[in-house]
Amino acid sequence: MTARLRFAPSPNGPLHLGHAYSALFAQRMARELEGRLLLRIEDIDTARCKPEYTEWVFEDLAWLGLSWPAPVRRQSEHLAAYTTALDRLERLRLLYPCFCTRKKLNAARTAKDPDGAPVYPGICKLRTAQERMQLMTAGTPFALRLDMAKAIVAAGDLRFRELVNTASGEAETLNADPKVWGDVILARKDIATSYHIAVVVDDAVQGISHVTRGTDLFAATAIHRLLQVLLNLPQPQYAHHRLIGDETGRKLSKSAGDRSLRALRQAGVSAAEVLELLGFA
Ligand code: GLU
Repeated sequence: MTARLRFAPSPNGPLHLGHAYSALFAQRMARELEGRLLLRIEDIDTARCKPEYTEWVFEDLAWLGLSWPAPVRRQSEHLAAYTTALDRLERLRLLYPCFCTRKKLNAARTAKDPDGAPVYPGICKLRTAQERMQLMTAGTPFALRLDMAKAIVAAGDLRFRELVNTASGEAETLNADPKVWGDVILARKDIATSYHIAVVVDDAVQGISHVTRGTDLFAATAIHRLLQVLLNLPQPQYAHHRLIGDETGRKLSKSAGDRSLRALRQAGVSAAEVLELLGFA
């Protein structure tokens, strides 16, 4: 089976050196595996994502020397697929509507999840069916949360394979522990889906065999494994790479005044210089 990898930026701003590293990392691994690298545009957040940022993604990546097969999957065009996945979880009785406002939640003194957000204290989980109906009928906006305790029981043991050496393919099996996230939101009030749902559905639809991304998303992999099991989706291998710190960026930004790839390019920095700086020369 040919390996399939993806670079999946969210076009909510210009790509920076960290994105370049991630894209080049995926490209290198695709080459090592003699596989294909796909591009996916993660633009479900229509308030923050802009068409010109998507255009800049294409320009920046082409400038870096990347190529990808057409058509490019844009998440904003596949909302129905995410709804189907949510319906399935709903049928398993693993979701509940949450009417809480962000303000209310920020005031709640609960543990923090791996992203530093308060773990949901479960307020809306305790609502009766009648209360839920009343709030919905009154048009109160709601998100859909995963009942994490129930979901963990339903899924059983969760593990994933993390590549420790992308060149040799050496991997280790890690336990996934989604409990630390609490009852995560799987459908946001404003967009009726979420990063977590969209990413697992798309990785499956696109036949992604290896998910490469930064270590900032390492903890989220536990949620993704859980959803893959609950939704009966195939399990990709993972390779989380280091994040590009300020150090490297700062050096370059001195001459360019900005770390976005676009700004670097406009300031006359060459793609070869970026590749060398990031260790891909
Ligand atoms: N769209 C995400 C981002 O730009 C990456 C998602 C992923 O690779 O799983 O941070």
